[in-house]
Amino acid sequence: MSKIIKQIKLGKSNAYLIETEKGFILIDAGMPDKVGKIKKILVEKNADLKDITLIIITHVHYDHVGSLSALKEKTGAKILVHETEKEFLEKGKTDFPAGTVLISKLISKLSNLISEGKFEAVSPDITIKDNYDLKQHGIEGEIIHTPGHTNGSICVIINEEDIICGDTLFNFMPHSVYPPFANDKKQLIKSWKKIKQYNCKRFHPGHGSVFGKDKFIKTLNKKS
Ligand SMILES: [Zn+2]
Ligand SMILES: [Zn+2]
Repeated sequence: MSKIIKQIKLGKSNAYLIETEKGFILIDAGMPDKVGKIKKILVEKNADLKDITLIIITHVHYDHVGSLSALKEKTGAKILVHETEKEFLEKGKTDFPAGTVLISKLISKLSNLISEGKFEAVSPDITIKDNYDLKQHGIEGEIIHTPGHTNGSICVIINEEDIICGDTLFNFMPHSVYPPFANDKKQLIKSWKKIKQYNCKRFHPGHGSVFGKDKFIKTLNKKS
C-alpha cells in the first residue's frame, strides 16, 4: 500500500487523500456530512482542511460529491472535474447510468424515476478535456479521461504505480471488477485498455478495497 495515498470511507463510497509537496489533494467527496471525518484524518497528520489545495471529482454521482459543497467552503480548494460532468455538478443532480446486468438495470430505472441522487450544487474551478499533469499541484501524477461508467469519468495515476479509478472499476465481487452501472459498455472497455497501458500495480476503487493488477487483467480478458 502506498504511503502517500490514504483511503477514506465516506458512507457508500471511498475518497482518497494524497499527500503532496504542496499540501493535500482529495479525490472524491463521498456522501453528505463527511467533512468531520476528513478533518480528523488531517489533524492526525498535523494538517488542517485548509491544507487541501485541490479536489478532483472522478465523476458526478451523488455518492462521490455529497460533501463537496461543504468541503469547498471549508478548504478553499480548487475543484476539478471533466468538462462533460460540469453541468451535472452545477445542477446538483445525478444522471444515473444504465445497469450492466438485470438487477442494476432495474435499480437504475427506479433511481431515475424517484430521482434520488440530489446533492448541493457546486461550480468547478478547473475543467479538463483530456490528460492533465499534476506536477503543478506538487506530485508526479496525471489525470486521464476514461469514459464508460459516465461520459466524463476520469482516473488519477500517481507515480506510474497507483491508479485511483472512481467507478470505472468496482471491487465488490471476488472474481470481477466490472462496474454494475455504465453509460457506455463499449467505451468502458476502451478505457480499460487505455488504463492497461499504464501498467499500474495498485488500483484504488470508488467502492471496495484496493486490488492488484491481476484482478483487473483477468476481468478485462473476460469482457473483451
Ligand atoms: Zn459510486
Ligand atoms: Zn458512479
